Amino acid sequence: MAGAAQRLSDVRAGIAKSATLARRSPDDITLIAVTKGREASEIEPLIEAGHRDFGESRVQEALAKWPPLLARRPGIRLHGIGRLQSNKAREAVQVFDVIHALDRASLLDALADAAAKEGRSPALYVQVNIGDEPQKGGCPIAELGALVDLVRASPLPLAGLMAIPPLDVEPAPFFALLAKLARRHGVAGLSMGMSADYEAAVMLGATTVRVGSALFEI
Ligand SMILES: *Cc1c(COP(=O)(O)O)cnc(C)c1O
Repeated sequence: MAGAAQRLSDVRAGIAKSATLARRSPDDITLIAVTKGREASEIEPLIEAGHRDFGESRVQEALAKWPPLLARRPGIRLHGIGRLQSNKAREAVQVFDVIHALDRASLLDALADAAAKEGRSPALYVQVNIGDEPQKGGCPIAELGALVDLVRASPLPLAGLMAIPPLDVEPAPFFALLAKLARRHGVAGLSMGMSADYEAAVMLGATTVRVGSALFEI
């Protein structure tokens, strides 16, 4: 198997192994291939290998790169995983099927407005500032319940909760905390885990993992 397809298969095997250990079905976990900074030529082998869920951090980059790829291959789901400014809501709704970075009520308003204008309904993950870090995006834990309620009252579907644990510390306690918050608020989806820690995230209940470098580095 060629490089990218081999790495995709390795990551899928890692997900399946962790899921099985946790007595979960591997089919319940979606792998998002994070393609920020990657050329279309690097992405195509993953599409050829049958992969359909892809993640981008920046709206402009997604708009520049993806329309030709999407036109050639129907069925691809594009996930917006980066911080989003309200003035980019319209373009985000045009290009993304799922948005993982909803962290404030004003952004929800902008997305609902854009969705009505575009006739599209992206599913939303509420991003939680799980390590209480001032420089990071995400809703403070204390405000999570109110934001989840607002999404439930909005026309857009609530996909779940998303978080990025603090760097350089053991991520598992933060994954466990996000899973606990999801249970507390009756939310099913958990977008957590990246190249370095997706196996732990799956053990702790991730339903979606976002993996970039492990799929592309040699
Ligand atoms: C870049 C990025 C990822 C993927 O990170 P890797 O360590 O390359 O797997 C996942 N989630 C978010 C929000 C990212 O920005």
